Amino acid sequence: MDTQAETTPLISLDHEGLVIKRGRRSGVYTIVAVHSTKLGPALGGCRMWRYASSADGARDALRLARAMTFKAAAAQVPLGGGKGVICVEPGGPPAGERRRQILLDFADTVNVLDGSYITAEDVGTSSADMIVIREGTEHVAGLPESHGGSGDPSPVTALGVQAAMQACCERVFGSPDLAGRSVAIVGAGRVGSRLAELLSRAGASLFLADIDESKRAFADALGARWCDPNVALQAEVDVLAPCALGGVINESNVDRLRCAVVCGSANNQLAHEGLAEDLHGREILYAPDFVANAGGLINIAVEREGYDRERALERVRGIEATMAELLDEAEVEGITPLGAAYRLARRRLEEGASAGLAI
Ligand code: NAD
Repeated sequence: MDTQAETTPLISLDHEGLVIKRGRRSGVYTIVAVHSTKLGPALGGCRMWRYASSADGARDALRLARAMTFKAAAAQVPLGGGKGVICVEPGGPPAGERRRQILLDFADTVNVLDGSYITAEDVGTSSADMIVIREGTEHVAGLPESHGGSGDPSPVTALGVQAAMQACCERVFGSPDLAGRSVAIVGAGRVGSRLAELLSRAGASLFLADIDESKRAFADALGARWCDPNVALQAEVDVLAPCALGGVINESNVDRLRCAVVCGSANNQLAHEGLAEDLHGREILYAPDFVANAGGLINIAVEREGYDRERALERVRGIEATMAELLDEAEVEGITPLGAAYRLARRRLEEGASAGLAI
């Protein structure tokens, strides 16, 4: 009996390509999955992580690459979906010369795809790592501004979340104005803290939560109410903004949420997608995460045209219109906003393919 198949979640394999290479310098497995280049070269960050096996790393790359296809299509940018993975050994993150060797090995793997995959920063990698990868391949986006890139995408991602939130508030409260709205932000990291600043400026009343107590001073300075992440999740607020890790809404807490809207930056906020139906049933508007957090991706799409910050911000503000469009469709069709977001992305993929955008 194949016990592996019993215990391992299945990944649908409808991808264009998967490259797995054992690095000639480091001996570490580096992986690139390309799900689709229908709308343009596949873009997706490079995740450096300790996986139980290289097969687990490949599985993660396949899953994340597919998600990137839908994210890019819904954001209407000329990019496809891909993902890079570096499977590092147990222990702390590699440093110094060892890290450099690993990153250059990853660049070799990127080069195998000959430009149909473009890498960027992700969990476990930094903009400094991108500079090293750039030594080995030209197919890198999101470099620091000092190196000709568009820099840290987090503030732009935060702006996109605010735009999405406005569309949700318009739907639920009849006005996009965030002044006086209560918002609980869970995760005061790079995106969450910038979102908090934007919302504070817009006049929202904020709850801020993080497992890192050192963020409390930031909350105090902003006049936000500091609280425990579990309290924030279940707070009676207009909007819950998950801005930490994925899977924050699950079977055991979905019935305890007391917000009217869920709209944040975290990827994969729902532990499984069936929870979108539960939220819909409870009349909680769930803003599909891959639409709300597409600001960073849009920023990179603009970088590829020749970066212009104002143009990037303008396009990111367009997330408000995209979100409004899919909320309209959800209402008319009697489906969840998540279902409408997938429909929108699929439609754009079909239109892109028929317009001959495939490379
Ligand atoms: P970050 O690492 O800078 O911040 C995450 C914050 O969450 C940290 O302050 C951490 O202490 C906190 N945290 C971790 N576990 C927590 C928990 N259980 N409860 C409360 N707080 C917790 O990351 P980031 O760049 O701000 O990204 C946040 C989320 O947004 C991630 O899911 C990321 O994938 C997603 N995202 C980020 C971007 C971007 O531009 N940075 C773009 C798209 C999506």
